[in-house]
Amino acid sequence: MTNPMSEDIPPTGEGIRDFIRDVVRSDLDDGRVDTVVTRFPPEPNGYLHIGHAKSMCLNFGVAREFGGRCNLRFDDTNPTKEEREYIDSIQEDVRWLGFDWGEHLYFASDYFEQLYSWAEHLIGAGKAYIDDHSAEEIRTYRGTLTEPGRDSPYRDRPADENLDLFRRMRAGEFEDGARVLRAKIDMASGNINMRDSVLYRILHASHPRTGEDWCLYPTYDFAHGQSDAIEGVTHSLCTLEFEDHRPLYDWLTDNLPVPSRPRQYEFSRLNLTHTVLSKRRLIQLVEDGHVAGWDDPRMPTLSGLRRRGFPSAAIRDFVGRVGITKSDNVVEMALLEHCARELLNKTAPRRLAVLRPLKVVIENYPEGQTEELEAINNPEDAAAGTRKVPFSRELYIERGDFMEDPPRKFFRLAPGREVRLRYAYFITCREVVKNDAGEVVELRCTYDPATKGGDAPDGRKVKATLHWVSADHGVSAEVRLYDHLFARPDPGAEGDILDDINSESLTVLNECCLEPALLDVRPGDPVQFERQGYFCLDPDASADRPVFNRTVALRDTWARIQAKERPKA
Ligand code: ATP
Ligand code: MG
Repeated sequence: MTNPMSEDIPPTGEGIRDFIRDVVRSDLDDGRVDTVVTRFPPEPNGYLHIGHAKSMCLNFGVAREFGGRCNLRFDDTNPTKEEREYIDSIQEDVRWLGFDWGEHLYFASDYFEQLYSWAEHLIGAGKAYIDDHSAEEIRTYRGTLTEPGRDSPYRDRPADENLDLFRRMRAGEFEDGARVLRAKIDMASGNINMRDSVLYRILHASHPRTGEDWCLYPTYDFAHGQSDAIEGVTHSLCTLEFEDHRPLYDWLTDNLPVPSRPRQYEFSRLNLTHTVLSKRRLIQLVEDGHVAGWDDPRMPTLSGLRRRGFPSAAIRDFVGRVGITKSDNVVEMALLEHCARELLNKTAPRRLAVLRPLKVVIENYPEGQTEELEAINNPEDAAAGTRKVPFSRELYIERGDFMEDPPRKFFRLAPGREVRLRYAYFITCREVVKNDAGEVVELRCTYDPATKGGDAPDGRKVKATLHWVSADHGVSAEVRLYDHLFARPDPGAEGDILDDINSESLTVLNECCLEPALLDVRPGDPVQFERQGYFCLDPDASADRPVFNRTVALRDTWARIQAKERPKA
C-alpha cells in the first residue's frame, strides 16, 4: 500500500514551485543572469544535520533544475571551532545525500589574502577603522534594539594610522582581543548589524588549512558575502536569521571592487519535533556523552540517520514535502519516519526475526527433521522472488505473542488456542511450562500437518499469524531499538534541555534470533523484520554476531496524525 503521490515527488523537489525558484526562473527569463550559481556554505564546526539537508536540496536542486552549478564552500573563518574531521565528514554526507559539487570545492580560507586586501581598501576609503575597545566595551557601545549605539572614541582615527595598525595586527604585534577592524557605517542605525560591524579580529590560532599563516581572521559577516562574490554566486540562499545581515552584505559589496554582486534570499530553517538542530547543542550532546557520537542513530545528523538506516532518498523526499517558505514552523518527526517507511516498504526484503524469544516445542513434529519452507521476499515487489526458511521441532516466537490469560481482544497464542505460523503450519498451544519463579519459559504445542503453507484444507480460520525462527537454525543477534532522543516535542521549552532527554531512547535486545538469511545482509541494505519494522546492519556487527538497528517501526504515527486531522465524513 504505497502512497501513489510518492512516485511523483522528484528527488530534490523538481517541478515544485516556491518563491526562490520563481525568482530564479524570472532572473533567467529576464536575462538578469545567464547561468545560475548557488553554493552550500557549511562552517566545518560540526557534522551536518537534517536541517542542512534542506539547504543542500535547495542549493544543489536549484542548480540542477536550472542547468547551473552549486559550489561546496567551507566557511572556515573561525579556526578555534573548526576541524579537519568535520571537513571530511561534511563531504561524505553531501555525497551520500546524492549531490556532487564536481570541480567546485572551495574554502573561504582560500580567499584570505583577497579579503585582507579588500579590508585595506575599505580602510583607505575611510570606511573601516581599528577599534581598541574590548569585546565588552564594543558590546556596551553598540546599544540595543530600542537605543542607538554610541561612536567609539577610535572611530575617527586617520586612515594611515588605521592602515599601520591593521598591518601590525597581521604581523602579530598584538594579543588576541587587543583591537579589531570595524566597518564605519552608522552607530545609530535601526539595524544593529549596521552599527560598525566587526570585520577582523586577532586570533593566534592554528587553522586547519592555513596553519600558522594568519593571526587575524575575517568575521563570518565579512567573509561570507565577499566569498559569494568571488565565486560569482548569483543567488545566495540562506536561512531567515541572515535577513538582517543583508544590508551589511550589500553595503560591503557596494563599497568594494568585487567581481560580482550576489543577491541574497532567505528561507525558513527546518525545525523538527523531538530533537534539536543546532550544532552547538549537538556538540554538547556528543561531548557530554549523552549519545555515543555524532553518528549515534538517535542523532538528527546525516551520519546518524544513515547509520540508523534512513535512505538518502527518503530524506530528499521529506525535504521536498516540507518545501521552501519564509514562515517558521516545526515539522513532525513522524513525517520523516513516514517518508522512510514508504520508501522502505517498496524496497526492503522481508525477513523473520524474533526479538524477545519464547521457546515453542512442537510435540508431534518429528525430532531431527527440518523442512525448507518457501517465503515471499517482498509482497510489494514480485521480482524480489522467494527464499527458503528452515522449520524444525523447536522454534522461537515473540514473547509478546503469547498470553496465558488473554483479555478479550488478544487474538494471538494462548492456552488451547490455534494460530498460524507464517509460511508454515497451524499450531495449537497444549501446555505452558514455567520456571521456579513462575515465568513462562516454554510452550508445548502441536501442529496440523495438513496446514502446510499456512492454510487449512477444511477452511477453518485462525485469528492470528505469528512470525517465528527455528531454534536450531536461528542466528543469535543484538538488536537496538530507538525512540526519540528527547521526550517532549519541544525540548528545552520549559527548562533545561538536558532534562528533556528521553531516558528510554535506546533499548538493546541481546537475545534476538534471526532467520539464517539475515546473515547475508550487507551494511547499508534495508530489511523488514516482519511485523516489527525496518532494520539495517550496524557497523558494530561482527561476522558471526549481527547487530541490527531499527530504522522505524511499522506502525505509522504520521498516517494516524493525518487521519485525526481529516474532518470526519
Ligand atoms: P547551526 O545553527 O546548526 O549551527 P549553522 O547555520 O550555523 O547551523 P552552517 O554550517 O553555517 O550552520 O550552515 C550551512 C548552511 O546550512 C547555511 O546556509 C545555513 O543557513 C543552512 N542551515 C543550517 N541549519 C539549517 C536548518 N535547520 N534548516 C535549513 N537550513 C539550515
Ligand atoms: Mg552558521
